[in-house]
Amino acid sequence: MAASTSESDDIRKMAHPLEIPRLKCGAMEGLAPFKASPEHQEKLGFPGELVPDWKEKALAKMKELGEKNRAFQVYLDTCVKCGACTDKCHYFLGTGDPKNMPVARQDLLRSVYRRYFTFAGKYFPKLVGARDLTEDVLNEWYSYYHQCSECRRCSVFCPYGIDTAEITMAARDIMDHIGIGMKYSNEIIGKVHDIGNNLGLNAKALRATLEDLEEDLEDETGISVRIPVDEKGADILLITPSADFFAEPHIDGLLGYAKVFHEAGVSWTVSSYASEAANFGLFIGSYEQMREISLRIRKAAQDLGVKRIVFGECGHAWRVGYSFLNTLAGPFDFLDQNYPIPQHIMEFTWDEIQKGTLNIDKSRNDHIRLTYHDSCNVARASRMGDEPGGQFEIPRNVIKAVCNHYFEMDRETTKESTLCCGGGGGLLTDDLMDLRKKGASPRMTAVQQVTEDHGVTHMAAICAICKTQFSKIMPAFGYEMDSIVSVHQLVSNAIILTGQVIDDDEDKSDE
Ligand code: SF4
Ligand code: SF4
Repeated sequence: MAASTSESDDIRKMAHPLEIPRLKCGAMEGLAPFKASPEHQEKLGFPGELVPDWKEKALAKMKELGEKNRAFQVYLDTCVKCGACTDKCHYFLGTGDPKNMPVARQDLLRSVYRRYFTFAGKYFPKLVGARDLTEDVLNEWYSYYHQCSECRRCSVFCPYGIDTAEITMAARDIMDHIGIGMKYSNEIIGKVHDIGNNLGLNAKALRATLEDLEEDLEDETGISVRIPVDEKGADILLITPSADFFAEPHIDGLLGYAKVFHEAGVSWTVSSYASEAANFGLFIGSYEQMREISLRIRKAAQDLGVKRIVFGECGHAWRVGYSFLNTLAGPFDFLDQNYPIPQHIMEFTWDEIQKGTLNIDKSRNDHIRLTYHDSCNVARASRMGDEPGGQFEIPRNVIKAVCNHYFEMDRETTKESTLCCGGGGGLLTDDLMDLRKKGASPRMTAVQQVTEDHGVTHMAAICAICKTQFSKIMPAFGYEMDSIVSVHQLVSNAIILTGQVIDDDEDKSDE
């Protein structure tokens, strides 16, 4: 790990993570992700390409969303242009493009809503900033509504609680319904419908992958620790991001879950049918897609006869799981009601640590000086445990139980004020790499500060998207690719399994 910033000039060097940039009008204009092919669109029930009567259809969908989702309409009606949100978006801070100010992003849609659905907008459009829905406006929507990671940071600072993420989701939903979807998210959702996970990993490949991991675990520890698939009658169904099955540092997190379950003495399984925690239906603002994906979890739980559902480390999956799973796919009256439905793996592990089930040697993480990145969807759209703020404290409690050297980043960039990694909300695609790097600058500036102040070498996260984004982005800021770690990777390092023989000379470094 090195602490210096890359000389790459497409990344803004910031003195402070929240330093307000000089305005660069149009800096990100026209940047947009690849569009979904007709095949990927139609698989989700959307038109394959832009429909001839797109304008009428878009306005009809906007009206429908306003009627169905009162919050959406209130958000469009309420903004008083106080300006409190203007400098709160990491994409604005990283790019300087004024259209990445949350209020300006909202206005891309609000101006059209006013023109067609308000008295003043119909008769005095110029006076109230109302504008016609034209092809140029539509292109602007496609570009700037794919420069929002739906992270909700701006909503924390809005005195009216206006949530730009909801407006972005509505805009994407409207665009999908007139035939303009995003390739990355829509293709992935199609794979989940066909195969059960984002990667397109079939049951045979999943089984083979997990068997290999079991062998690796036994080689490392000398203990047989199982990672079961489709095991009927298991107590727990683990729903985890498919990245946990094959990518670093995610795999190390999965090994951590396996060790915790093993030591806790519970039976558990993953499902080859519901082998994905991620639910990109959220990103495209489609409750129908979210529901279809959520129903796979219900079916897997019923088919396998489990008693509990536990979610692995995935930020937006936990947002959908915590906030919507029971509504979309419940009631889960066939599960054991003595446990949260669903439960987060951090809650499970923290319970076991408190019970004293796990034999932990914190010094096994002494080669790491750690900070923690609160993932947006966990921090601002969910909770853990029984106390308010549990989503902030429980991961920190687990980290402090397994690491000796832990340091917080600037308080203005953590917990409810956390800064997005830059790749959330369906933006984790190479066609948006420029935006991803710039959007990560504020967070990475905060990381560099704790490196300068405390010699921090690594950052932990409990979100698959954050981990993937940071393993790509951190090298541009002078860090090694493996400076981003799973929290359960740290748990895995520190656990000594029952019967495991530890060699005193064992190298504790993961470098
Ligand atoms: S939700 Fe997040 S990404 Fe979107 S405008 Fe607000 S701060 Fe920016
Ligand atoms: S903080 Fe809220 S009310 Fe103020 S400009 Fe932003 S969205 Fe509008």
